[in-house]
Amino acid sequence: MRKHKIPIPEPKSRFVRVQCPDCGNEQILFDHATFPVRCIVCGRILATPTGGKARIYGKIIQILT
Ligand SMILES: [Zn+2]
Repeated sequence: MRKHKIPIPEPKSRFVRVQCPDCGNEQILFDHATFPVRCIVCGRILATPTGGKARIYGKIIQILT
């Protein structure tokens, strides 16, 4: 099911489905977010911008292309 091979990152950005580690809420967020993304349920930070790909703190459930 799950691919372990990670291709060379494309400059294209993506959306990912992330599960909040605190409340379990699933939320879709932008892979290259330029602003902090919070969980809509509990307000926990789920991603912060790094200048490129956002740092994601929750569990990535799915990558949407
Ligand atoms: Zn949450």
